Amino acid sequence: MDDRLRRAAEGALGFMPAAEGLALYEAAASLEADGPLLEVGSYCGKSAVYLGAAAQRAGRLLFCVDHHRGSEENQPGWEHHDPRVVDADLGVIDTLPFFRRTVGDAGLEGTVVAVVGDSPTVAAVWATPLAMVFIDGGHGAEPAHLDYEGWSRHVAPGGLLAIHDVFEDPVAGGRPPYEIWCRALSAGCYEEQSAVGSLRVLRRVA
Ligand code: SAH
Ligand code: MG
Repeated sequence: MDDRLRRAAEGALGFMPAAEGLALYEAAASLEADGPLLEVGSYCGKSAVYLGAAAQRAGRLLFCVDHHRGSEENQPGWEHHDPRVVDADLGVIDTLPFFRRTVGDAGLEGTVVAVVGDSPTVAAVWATPLAMVFIDGGHGAEPAHLDYEGWSRHVAPGGLLAIHDVFEDPVAGGRPPYEIWCRALSAGCYEEQSAVGSLRVLRRVA
């Protein structure tokens, strides 16, 4: 990965360790299926830079779906709350300005397309087969399963489905991302491609 983009990703606020971000980049750089990439859960754009760097090189687009109001676990009082991303006038989280800044600073505005809205709502009307889907949205049971149901069916044959924060041990983290990873494998449509930290990458085989 280009050094300048790597530094841009590492400098962004967010929840993606560098080793996992680089693994995400490597997966996105290895795509064989045609089509754009899409991530669910962009926050301030950290993972978007890793994915966008690979998309830019390949002349593909990356769609980034997020309502930018934060997940349950980003709200005040929760573990992943950061008061810097609260809009002072409205008193609610707004990560969209941070996301734009990250993507702009990385020089990825021609590659990364923000889709500001609710993931299942967008998934329901989506029609373009995707070379890669990265799921890192809400980690509660309902949002995680809705993201899986909404987006896994849009992965093109031979394309990749990546899931973040997959922790087999419930002590290490919430289980819903692990549950959807199990669902994808047990449905027989995906096989494992790689795993780094809590990042799991699956390849669509059917
Ligand atoms: N990938 C990011 C971290 C994502 S945090 C990084 O690299 O740092 C999870 C994000 O999912 C939050 O920004 C939150 O707003 C978004 N999110 C949660 N539920 C959502 C939903 N139903 N629709 C759209 N975005 C959602
Ligand atoms: Mg994550």
